[in-house]
Amino acid sequence: MSDCLFCKIIKGEIPSKKVFENNDYFAFRDINPQAPTHVLVIPKKHVAKLTDLKAGDEALVGGLFTVANIIAGEEKIDRKGFRTVLNCGELAGQTVFHLHLHLLGGRMFNWPPG
Ligand code: 5GP
Ligand code: ZN
Repeated sequence: MSDCLFCKIIKGEIPSKKVFENNDYFAFRDINPQAPTHVLVIPKKHVAKLTDLKAGDEALVGGLFTVANIIAGEEKIDRKGFRTVLNCGELAGQTVFHLHLHLLGGRMFNWPPG
């Protein structure tokens, strides 16, 4: 998607602080971090939101968590715990319509979320 912010970040057209990349995924630091570690994990394939996933996309979603897990270890937030968030749609507060998993750690989180 040529007009998608995160597709542009993947291509390097918009700079980002990359923390992970492989054939299928890209991860980078959130520009407005909500915790000491706040990383966004995205698939390189453009999918706008969770409800756009199709049968057969299970591996794509699973891979987001595999990558988050790798980064959690590298950031040393895996032992004490961390939070993953995937906002879908307007009421959840999704603002960028390229599927992304937030990886947040390094502080205590409240429940229920705001
Ligand atoms: P959402 O609210 O859609 O779940 O999350 C979008 C996230 O993308 C927000 O946390 C926001 O701070 C982050 N974000 C928006 N624009 C940019 C950008 O240009 N660069 C980076 N690194 N993060 C961004
Ligand atoms: Zn995109």
